Amino acid sequence: TTIEDWARSDVYHNSFLIPQDSVLDAALKNSAANGLPEIAVSVSQGKFLQLHARAIQAKRILEVGTLGGYSTIWLGRALPEDGELITLEISSKHAKVAEENLSNAGLSSKCKIIVGPGHESMVELPSEKKFDFIFIDADKPSNVKYFTEAKRLIRKGGVIIVDNVVRFGRVADPEQSDPNIEGVRSLLNALKGDKDVDATTIATVGEKAYDGFIYAIRN
Ligand code: SAM
Repeated sequence: TTIEDWARSDVYHNSFLIPQDSVLDAALKNSAANGLPEIAVSVSQGKFLQLHARAIQAKRILEVGTLGGYSTIWLGRALPEDGELITLEISSKHAKVAEENLSNAGLSSKCKIIVGPGHESMVELPSEKKFDFIFIDADKPSNVKYFTEAKRLIRKGGVIIVDNVVRFGRVADPEQSDPNIEGVRSLLNALKGDKDVDATTIATVGEKAYDGFIYAIRN
């Protein structure tokens, strides 16, 4: 089975479960036209994030790593009328494209972008206003810093998802070491024996080839 076969598999399943969506398509098109890297979550992953937010009836969502706001749109649409999403992005160029895409999705009032280094922005957020769901998808070497702040900001029973933690299985390969892989390993080390959360890694395959996410519940 090749990577192309797995991409085809995603397209096949999506054709039954996920209708074409002109707003999401336009967000990807606008992102590509502005030269943003094509590293947004896949269609099925975006839908999963949305279903998950609905399942836990999330009213407050925090995202670290906005890019063009593709995952933000999926998540923002899961929110009730009085829901709120805050998304953190270091690149003002990415944030500008995301603003356009969120506006086109009719989500500008619910979804707020904070431009700046994600960790500094997280530190500024008050512990009193807890989040139900935090999605960490920014620079991977900072995963431990983001996760530590996420634990402070998430409500008890809330969910933290960290993307791209399998990386073709390379995280487990001792021959491999790049800063992204080391970032995941540091997080795994920090999670070992951490009584604050219960977590598991779910490995995935599809359009984004072989990867996976950590799913953690705050105790
Ligand atoms: N969540 C997006 C989606 O699925 O549509 C994809 C996010 S992309 C994988 C990672 C983003 O994190 C990039 O836009 C990058 O500019 C941003 N980023 C990198 N370092 C950052 C930092 N220190 N603070 C905040 N954002 C950062």
